[in-house]
Formats: sequence, C-alpha cells, structure tokens
Amino acid sequence: MRVLGIETSCDETGVALFDSKRGLVADALYSQVAMHADYGGVVPELASRDHTRRLLPLIQQVLDEAGLTRTDLDAIAYTAGPGLVGALMVGASTAHGMARALGIPVLGVHHMEGHLLAPMIEDEPPAFPFVALLVSGGHTQLVDVQGIGRYRLLGESVDDAAGEAFDKAAKMLGLDYPGGPLIARLAEQGDPKRLRFPRPMTDRPGLDFSFSGLKTHTLTATRQLEAAGDLDEQARADIARAFEEAVVDTLVIKCRRALDQTGLKRLVVAGGVSANARLRERLARETDKRGARAYYPRGRFCTDNGAMIAYAGAQRLLAGEHDELGIMQAVPRWPLASLAAPAGT
Ligand code: ATP
Ligand code: MG
Ligand code: FE
Repeated sequence: MRVLGIETSCDETGVALFDSKRGLVADALYSQVAMHADYGGVVPELASRDHTRRLLPLIQQVLDEAGLTRTDLDAIAYTAGPGLVGALMVGASTAHGMARALGIPVLGVHHMEGHLLAPMIEDEPPAFPFVALLVSGGHTQLVDVQGIGRYRLLGESVDDAAGEAFDKAAKMLGLDYPGGPLIARLAEQGDPKRLRFPRPMTDRPGLDFSFSGLKTHTLTATRQLEAAGDLDEQARADIARAFEEAVVDTLVIKCRRALDQTGLKRLVVAGGVSANARLRERLARETDKRGARAYYPRGRFCTDNGAMIAYAGAQRLLAGEHDELGIMQAVPRWPLASLAAPAGT
C-alpha cells in the first residue's frame, strides 16, 4: 500500500511517501522556523497561511522524487491533532480533497503516535512492548506501549514540556527559536562544575515531570551573573550546560524508573528533544548497564516530519481504518492514551 503522509500540526510542512512493501520512498520538509524567529515563537495564523503556500508544491516534490503520480497513491494519512487548529485544517482539508478526487481512503493520525512510531522506519526497529519517552516542544510523557494504539500513560509533565523549557531558557540566554539545538551547542563550551540546577521531582517516587522551575532557575542565574558584571560568553555557556545537564539527568532518572517499574528492556525515545546528543549518550550508558536498548528516529525525524505520519497512517489504514467520507478531523487537544488499537489486531 502506497501512503502519502501529510504533517501540518505546527510550524513544519512535512510530506512523505511510505510503501508498506518497500518502506519509506521519499520525504520532504519545509520548516517555517526562520519566518517565526522574529516573533520568538510560532504565530498560529502565519503558520496556517504558510502551510497553504507550501503543501501542494511539497506533495508534487515527493511524488516526483518517488517517480509516481497522484493516481499511484493507495491512501492518504494526515495529522489530525494535537496541534494548532488552523494549521491542522490545512493538512486535513488537502488530504480529504485529494482523497475524494482520487477515490481512495484517507485517515487522520495522532501526531504523538507518529512521533512514537518514528523509530519503526529505521533499520533495526524495536519490537513491542517497549517504554516510550516522548520529548517534544509540547509533550513530555512516558508511555507503556504494548502495540499500536495500546498505550498506557506512565507519567507526564505537570507544566512545561522539556522542549518548551529548552526554548524558553534559550530566549533568556539571547538565543534564537527553537532553542534546543542552540543550547546544546552553547553547552558544549560550558563548565559542568560551575553551576548546578535542581533535578525537579526526582526526590519523590513517580514518573511525572516538572520543567517550569528550571526556567526560573535559568532566569535567576542569568540575572545574578549579570548584576555582578560576569555575564560573559563563558558564563552563558556555563548556564546552558547546567540547564541541559539538569533536564537530561531528570529525563534519564525517570526513564530508568519506568524501565524498572515495567520490567521492559526496550526504550523508544522520540520527539524533538530526542535529537539531543547528551541525552542519547547518557541513555546509552543507562540501557547498557541494565541489558536494555534505546531506539531513536534518525536525526531529522526526531522533530516534525511527514514520514512518521505516513508510517503511522499506513499501519492503521492496512488494518482497514479510515475517516468517513468528507468528514475531516482537526483536534487541537487529544490525549494519546485515548487511542484504540486498530480493529482486528
Ligand atoms: P509536539 O510534538 O509536542 O506537538 P512540536 O511538534 O513543536 O511539539 P517537535 O517538532 O517534536 O515538537 O520538537 C521541537 C522541540 O525540540 C523544540 O522545543 C526544540 O527546541 C527541541 N529540540 C530540537 N533539537 C533539540 C536538541 N538537540 N536538544 C534539545 N532540544 C531540541
Ligand atoms: Mg516544530
Ligand atoms: Fe511534534
């Protein structure tokens, strides 16, 4: 089955073609990051308009790359939520319009299920069951995954998502949006011994997270050094390092706990923050120690992309799931654990 995947939930337009026999055939991405950078964050209305501009050319690009035409498609999958409602509607209406014209099935996919299944596109995909750490701009969740649509939430952030905390801390350090990769780069020059930030919610049992306090901590440290006239490039790097160490250490502690609690030996890490090199390095050490293994998407599929939507959609479409004719889905808030397994699986 050849499935076209469309992702427009936030600030990247992603399109991909997944063939259930051949795997990923082609993918293309247009990031709006530069457009939103002047505003320090994503402006919803600008995002929707830009998806409208980019989506059809991107679909054509993917078809050309695959050497196919629209009539070769067997189904279309699009991100139905969670995300910005206007942005979601661009993908949903395009998918439904195309599917209606071509007379093929179309399915709305959960964005976080896309992130969660992204490592399945790689060469050595994880087998079920596994623990998933979803760490993105809007989510920080630990999930017990028994199969597609068999998700049990083990813990999540009670306030900011880890990626959001990276972005906010970056802003305080005068870095651009999105701040995650920039903090990571700056932190490489930082002295890990100069400052120590807390590891929130690790001193009590449970698998929930809290990252808003680290933001305050970053602000306080920045102001103190500034007042003392010491906020030079080295000091900013030291703050970035302390911040990154605190986030990574907190994530690692909770992953360890989740593996212990579930007795599972496979850990999937996905979402934008899963691209973080220090996090991968620390988790590798942890999983090695306990005879477990961590699985990730390739770098460019950690953040939003069309490939994960094409893949997740294909799994459900193959099981016979599809939207009702002409009823597109755009669901801004949509808990992952409310999903069901595809019928008959
Ligand atoms: P969600 O998937 O929850 O709806 P989103 O789609 O905006 O949110 P993603 O695109 O998955 O999130 O990830 C973007 C986030 O990942 C940003 O917050 C960004 O700062 C962060 N990020 C990307 N690369 C890195 C990195 N190397 N280190 C830390 N954070 C990173
Ligand atoms: Mg994004
Ligand atoms: Fe995302």
